[in-house]
Amino acid sequence: MEQTLSIIKPDAVAKNVVGQILARFEAAGLRIATTTKMQLSQADAEAFYAVHAARPFFKDLVEFMISGPVVVTVLEGENAMAINRDLMGATNPAEAAPGTIRADFADSIDANAVHGSDSVENASNEINFFFAQREIY
Ligand code: ATP
Ligand code: MG
Repeated sequence: MEQTLSIIKPDAVAKNVVGQILARFEAAGLRIATTTKMQLSQADAEAFYAVHAARPFFKDLVEFMISGPVVVTVLEGENAMAINRDLMGATNPAEAAPGTIRADFADSIDANAVHGSDSVENASNEINFFFAQREIY
């Protein structure tokens, strides 16, 4: 069964909408294989977003991701990666389709509520970044 990684970012955690976002995953047929709340360190955030290290927004992205706790979840289901990306909506909430998580809960391209793996291969790497196999059921 396909797995993907979701992060509810500090803005959405601060808004107290963790349960509402997790409920959307379940309503779309995805199963929560594991979930945990954590505070990322700067090194964590830099390593997780290393692919964006050369981008002009990297420093702001890392600062935002460590500005408060996040909720990291492994979602499981058929086409889990693509389904989660559809639920999230576009990176810039101003361009996100109505009814998507980012349209409903995000304020800006920086504070955009959620992260989701963008390929099945990246999903596997991102899941291994946060979790040991015995934590995922
Ligand atoms: P994420 O990886 O967080 O799921 P995404 O895959 O939709 O989001 P990416 O292109 O991977 O978007 O960018 C990672 C994050 O970097 C975005 O979520 C956003 O917060 C930030 N970001 C991306 N592009 C910009 C930009 N042009 N200006 C500012 N921040 C940006
Ligand atoms: Mg991305």
